[in-house]
Amino acid sequence: MQPLSKNLKSNVLVADIGGTKIVLGHLQEGQLEPGLQTVSTDLLRVRDPVGAMAEILQGYAQTRGLGPTAAVLGVPVSPDRDLDKVLSSPNIPQLEGVFFASELTQRLGYAVCLERDIALLLLGEYQAGAARGASSALGVFFGTGVGAAMLLGGHPYRGYSVGLELGHIPIRGEGRRCVCGNTDCLEAYACGHTLVELSRQSTIPVQDLFIRQTENPVLEQALREFIRDQAYAVATAINLFDPEVCLVGGGIPEMKGYPRAAFQQTVLEHLRRPYPRETVRLAWAELGPRAALYGALEVLRQRGFG
Ligand SMILES: [Zn+2]
Repeated sequence: MQPLSKNLKSNVLVADIGGTKIVLGHLQEGQLEPGLQTVSTDLLRVRDPVGAMAEILQGYAQTRGLGPTAAVLGVPVSPDRDLDKVLSSPNIPQLEGVFFASELTQRLGYAVCLERDIALLLLGEYQAGAARGASSALGVFFGTGVGAAMLLGGHPYRGYSVGLELGHIPIRGEGRRCVCGNTDCLEAYACGHTLVELSRQSTIPVQDLFIRQTENPVLEQALREFIRDQAYAVATAINLFDPEVCLVGGGIPEMKGYPRAAFQQTVLEHLRRPYPRETVRLAWAELGPRAALYGALEVLRQRGFG
């Protein structure tokens, strides 16, 4: 392991690895640099994902003439307690069993810190966004999959093995298969894959589903159930954890026509009264992909870099 720079006044690369794309950015002198670059996650679906990730980071740094001192990666996987070995990775199976942080550190010659993707985004919102300074914050992100994270005093709750797998709570009972191998997980009914399937059935492009749903009563009903399932899951998590703030984000709530008011109304209707219904603050993620950069600042600070 290389000696770790204790100075944030350096170049830190940040990569938010999602199910379909990787968003890259960097911090210089502890400040966010404008401009983000996006590449396909398929680049990691190869025999040597460590080599591929190293090349992506090197390419980003070289193009900008940066000499990186550290990198922070948000990853859509379940890492071990050391935030190094990938325990499970249904979205990028090639990463399973890989010591992603330490192998990348060795390959690149500077420290590479891993964080669960959703925890990194929530840490960013805690640092500078809608969950700023909250004593406890629950974050639920609806995108390709469903991700959740919980911060207690600004620190991610880890669980015993994985923790906060809200995408895999059982819902309905129609037997639909989930990527994890179980049936009837929330993620089998209320994530990006569901919208792709509804788009195929209705022949309406994914991005137009919510704004054109009135053209197709079957689609309209399916989207009502889709929103209801998302809201039920969020209400369940709030009733369980009683956070100060519950933040919802991800690509799906950002879609044109997504019924944010109806979603929040359904969540509120299913919160226990009077508490946490009267105390929880429902918020929408407000930093978008830049949340990962702010989150990286928090990761570095918490791990003794800043
Ligand atoms: Zn599942």
